[in-house]
Amino acid sequence: MDAILFSVLILSSTAVLFVLLFRKKKKRPVLLNRSLPEPLKKILLEEVPFYHQLGEDGRRNFEARVQVFLDQVRITGVNTTVEDMDRVLVASSAIIPIFNFEDWQYVNLHEVLLYPDSFDHEFEQQGSGRNILGMVGEGALNHMMILSQQELRQSFSDKTGKNNTAIHEFVHLVDKTDGSIDGLPEVLLQQQYLVPWLRLMRHEIEQIKDNNSDINPYGASNESEFFAVASEYFFERPDLLREKHPELYDLLLKIFSPTQNVKN
Ligand SMILES: [Zn+2]
Repeated sequence: MDAILFSVLILSSTAVLFVLLFRKKKKRPVLLNRSLPEPLKKILLEEVPFYHQLGEDGRRNFEARVQVFLDQVRITGVNTTVEDMDRVLVASSAIIPIFNFEDWQYVNLHEVLLYPDSFDHEFEQQGSGRNILGMVGEGALNHMMILSQQELRQSFSDKTGKNNTAIHEFVHLVDKTDGSIDGLPEVLLQQQYLVPWLRLMRHEIEQIKDNNSDINPYGASNESEFFAVASEYFFERPDLLREKHPELYDLLLKIFSPTQNVKN
């Protein structure tokens, strides 16, 4: 082999090696080979209506993402035992809001603590005045979420309600991804819809305050709570929301399902 050919070979193989080593890796969770154990699939089928209404491909995708979530986020019981049911319901609550965002990862969450029931601002689980059913941790509790186990199960077993605390908390976490929990999910919502969304939120909050709305009054606390409460309604009773609040339904569809055409 002559020297020139040899140099060309060396150079080209170095280039190939360089490309292989430094090509931009597409950040994507490895989903295809993740399969959920049968008992967990059974829980999904029986307890999670969102999963139930998906087609075969959608279900497979949902199952894989539940498994990836469970691989990545620890679920710990505080004075209670975490069962498969709880693990599946927590993971489902996480996946439902971002199901249409294939590459989504909860980078701001490491652990979910399950308390048996409600708690107060001091995290006391006994005594009166315990009215918190879920929260996204701040400060020392950053990257954590606390949920009431009883409320978690209750939200999913009630098939006609508009409330789901665990979904509510995960929506706060999605909202927090851009740096602030403010009801404006900049990571999901295209720029041109931000102003219409803000205007609509303010209008709907006024309607609640005027006693002229079927949306949970807690949503009138501020815009971030409105976004979380309206999202619960959107995922729990989409048809009812569409009927009663078509404009709100359309904008939430743009937020959570941006590639889907708005149905008339
Ligand atoms: Zn909230």
